[in-house]
Amino acid sequence: MPVDGWIWVLLIIFWTGGFAWVADNVRTALRNRHERKMEVLEAAKQERLALEAAQQPPEPVCGCTHHLAKHDKQGRCHERVEAPTEWDENKKPLRYEAGQCNCQQYVGPQPLSQVFAEELTDRA
Ligand SMILES: [Zn+2]
Ligand SMILES: [Zn+2]
Repeated sequence: MPVDGWIWVLLIIFWTGGFAWVADNVRTALRNRHERKMEVLEAAKQERLALEAAQQPPEPVCGCTHHLAKHDKQGRCHERVEAPTEWDENKKPLRYEAGQCNCQQYVGPQPLSQVFAEELTDRA
């Protein structure tokens, strides 16, 4: 077909909205590719964050939110806390009294590494 013929074919496609359809498909394809790329990037970021979290030792913090270093061997927390002693009618504390955190420390299942460490020291 001579070049003139192709121009007519293109013009007919253009007139019938073919170009819009093609352009739409190209746009959708580009957007999908972009979204996939973002998903991959996001997944990589999540993976890196999880890895970083796994490498860090867990914060030795008790359920009372105080550091485990504040607890003695019996598990009693020695952190000073302010306990409300007087409330107004809206249950809003009016006066505080300095006291001691009455936490007994969490005595449930221990992390596996700690159990192993204790078994080893018992044997020695
Ligand atoms: Zn505690
Ligand atoms: Zn405490």
